[in-house]
Amino acid sequence: MINIQTIRLLLLFSVFVLPYFAETVMAAPIPGSDIGHEGTISYDIEVSIDPATRMLTGKSVITFNKTRDHTLILDSRFEVTQAFIDEMPFAPQTDSGRSHYWQIPYAILRPHQIEIHWRGQLHPLDETLDHEQTLGRPIAVSGEAGTFLPDASNWYPRVANGLIHYSVQIKLPPGQRGLAAGRLIDEQDDDAGYRARFEFDHAAKGIDLMAGPYEIESDHYTGVTGRPIQLRTYFHPQIGQLARDYLAAVKRYFELYESWIGAYPFTGFSIVSSPTPTGFGMPTLTYLGINVLRLPFIKDTSLGHEVLHNWWGNAVYPDYENGNWSEGLTTFMADYTYKEQESDEAAREMRLGWLRDFAALEPGQDAPLTAFTSRRHGASKIVGYHKAAMLFFMLRDLIGEDMFNRSIQGIWSMQRFKVTSWSHLQTAFEIISARDLAFFFDQWLTRTGAPSLTVTEAMQEQSGSGYRLHITLQQSEPAYQLRVPVAIQTDSGEEIHLLNLRHTEQTFTLDLDGKAQSAILDPDMRLFRLLAPGEAPPILREIMINPTTTTVLLSSDDETRQTATILAEKLQRRTPQILPAGRPVTGAPTLVIGLHHEVDAWLDARDLPAKPDEINAKGTAQTWTLTSPEGTSLAIISAQDSASLESLIRPLPHYGRQSYLVFDGRQAVERGVWPVRMQKFMIE
Ligand SMILES: [Zn+2]
Repeated sequence: MINIQTIRLLLLFSVFVLPYFAETVMAAPIPGSDIGHEGTISYDIEVSIDPATRMLTGKSVITFNKTRDHTLILDSRFEVTQAFIDEMPFAPQTDSGRSHYWQIPYAILRPHQIEIHWRGQLHPLDETLDHEQTLGRPIAVSGEAGTFLPDASNWYPRVANGLIHYSVQIKLPPGQRGLAAGRLIDEQDDDAGYRARFEFDHAAKGIDLMAGPYEIESDHYTGVTGRPIQLRTYFHPQIGQLARDYLAAVKRYFELYESWIGAYPFTGFSIVSSPTPTGFGMPTLTYLGINVLRLPFIKDTSLGHEVLHNWWGNAVYPDYENGNWSEGLTTFMADYTYKEQESDEAAREMRLGWLRDFAALEPGQDAPLTAFTSRRHGASKIVGYHKAAMLFFMLRDLIGEDMFNRSIQGIWSMQRFKVTSWSHLQTAFEIISARDLAFFFDQWLTRTGAPSLTVTEAMQEQSGSGYRLHITLQQSEPAYQLRVPVAIQTDSGEEIHLLNLRHTEQTFTLDLDGKAQSAILDPDMRLFRLLAPGEAPPILREIMINPTTTTVLLSSDDETRQTATILAEKLQRRTPQILPAGRPVTGAPTLVIGLHHEVDAWLDARDLPAKPDEINAKGTAQTWTLTSPEGTSLAIISAQDSASLESLIRPLPHYGRQSYLVFDGRQAVERGVWPVRMQKFMIE
């Protein structure tokens, strides 16, 4: 679930669209069925933090109950002031100065109780770090604007590899408030400062702690079981006015998901603001950058996704070794569902976007869904989130919405707090729908790529009062089993037929009411398939993520060339492979950068279409994609001068989903995607 897509949210001040919401689900409970307190490790922690001096003082009592041997690790920036095992002194060892550690022997006959006291100064909060940098360096930071102690920073004597239950008491000076994932047990806030205790009742991987100068807003939601669920925002004062809307949005998500799946499994949910532009999801809370929370669409999109992870991911645990299904199901039931609620057209656009992105992948960037664990780059999101979401969409088409929803509820009731693999999901869908779905899961989970479909022949004859059409479909090898929607335009209207394609070539006979004129395969993008060449004209992302992309710089002027090189580097996130301007275009995707007159001359010399009317003579710079007659994807960037080119360096990389843009300075004033060209097969 870890996402290392770089997002530079600071850019949001100049770019009004957030291209990706970077989310990372942290410290989710990990593999290991839900275990009672027997056989696990319990923590009772008291931690006191002073953000002004960044001093942390902690005391931890850890009970090892019938466990195997374990190691406790504490970052070496802390000083261990006392340590005991079963009331005997228990000095730590050190790991070449990086951490203190303790080897805990087997606890079989009787539990071990370890007590450790530690103190030390936390790293200063660096508000300039972005999400990726925060992820890359799990360090415990503190400052007046915020404290973030991620589990992986070893801010407390942490079990290297094991499940824990915990109770954490947080003490902070007046004006500061904090929390950890779990149930709020008690809370005091007065002149002496803030104290709160949180308990996490389920097996957890570790403890993340957050604090800041928060204003707390609370609300309650009565869940389907009649139990009150506490909803809270912990927001910095500068965004305090957003709290009510966020709480209202969370309630809507609870209503949606409790009725769709089942009762929320925890006792509360909090939205916590972060001074750095991060996006983390943890059980019972989400930790989002102040500037992320300010974006008006976050509560309508990403917030719902994070809330839903409390069902899929934080309560039903993915079996990472066999593929993480939770991002796909969450994307389908959150992001995609909101599009369906908006309109059929919006939902179709999202499916089309997924197919377009997939079509822009190089073969080496694809991987089977069983290999997906977490998001590491754009390509892994295209498979792990989008292909998996499309799998659930196709499954719903196959078994029907009612069976799909009953299966979802069945999975929830059977697998709560259990490690769950794709095969558990398959079994649930098979039992409830009473169908053998082995072929379906097998072809979508274990294969890379996607089927490529075409109509190769269609002949019709008169039959009674109507017509009989013989239509032949082809697909690539090895064949997928697909129910292919085909729209037949006849002289009495359009008919949609579902064709059960099982072989690489198959002819179907259809009885039609009218005389057929043309046929379109899957016009609604209901199948995960490779778009036909030209079906989806290129988007900028293709030249951004395709590693074979070459770059042509048209300017001979040094300054402009240098600016163009930086722009290409930012777009491709690597050193661009630059080809001489005079060379013919190769078969690889090509990025062409130049000033207006240079671009016009270059296009003209190659008999390529001139700058499209949609963007011509607008703004200070334009960019657009086109497909050459040989099928090569081209992205052209044309600027009026070097300064206009430079203005694109920051914003342009965020517009991968577009086919064309007009910029006025740094501002994108027009943008769009070239329309889909349906693959229409004309019938005589
Ligand atoms: Zn997610």
